[in-house]
Amino acid sequence: MQYLNRSASVVFIIIGLLAISTGGCKKFEKAGNVAQPGIVLTFDDDRVDNWYKYLPLLDSVGAKATFYISRYHNLSPQKKAKLAVIRNHGHEIAYHSTNHLNMMDYVYKYKHPIEELIQKEVEPDLLRMRQDGFNPVTFAYPFGAHNPIIDRALKKYFKSVRALNGSFDFTKSLVSSTHNDVLYGLGIDKKSGRSSADIIKILHSVKNNSTIAVFVAHDINTGGLCISIETLKLVIGFVKANNFRFYTAAEISEQ
Ligand SMILES: [Zn+2]
Repeated sequence: MQYLNRSASVVFIIIGLLAISTGGCKKFEKAGNVAQPGIVLTFDDDRVDNWYKYLPLLDSVGAKATFYISRYHNLSPQKKAKLAVIRNHGHEIAYHSTNHLNMMDYVYKYKHPIEELIQKEVEPDLLRMRQDGFNPVTFAYPFGAHNPIIDRALKKYFKSVRALNGSFDFTKSLVSSTHNDVLYGLGIDKKSGRSSADIIKILHSVKNNSTIAVFVAHDINTGGLCISIETLKLVIGFVKANNFRFYTAAEISEQ
């Protein structure tokens, strides 16, 4: 009987291990060990007309980007329709808060409870987007302002939260292909001061180290906070030429 119990335990353990290795969740690939290197190209705010204009450029290389939307309640019906087209081209429509407030200031400088932050900055436009058929599952912090306490509160709503790299160490923005819950995006807008040579160096690192880089931009080619068309073409051209993959934030946040 004791032998049988032990045998049964071994069988259960083997079945358990098989379930873990072949189960529904994707195989975990550590940064530096991903099967297909790539990038997560993210755009922030509410620049729908601008993004829509450059959709053919993104489509031309099969790019899939993640668009984090803020102030959804201010979008006109026309812009919402364009956003749906962007989504229908395979891009991720994600969330970037209701009013684009600095969440750290809201909680720690102006002393609002986190529950109030959620009621004011997370739920209203998230609900509106869901009612309109969008289903954001990832989030980007306005100004990248966050801490682990706010992360924890937001993870009840989202698979991952994206902050900003904010350092000279670009490797902070290199990630695995799954299981990411806090991302640190690397700015590639003109204002980031990153040259083409800097960006090429990072892309070579992605290639040589089998990893995925998370990039952040805003407008494309126009306005005060934009990625130049040259830089965008450089990045997506490199991805295409090297058979990288365009990952969305939702994809790399799968558990
Ligand atoms: Zn923003």
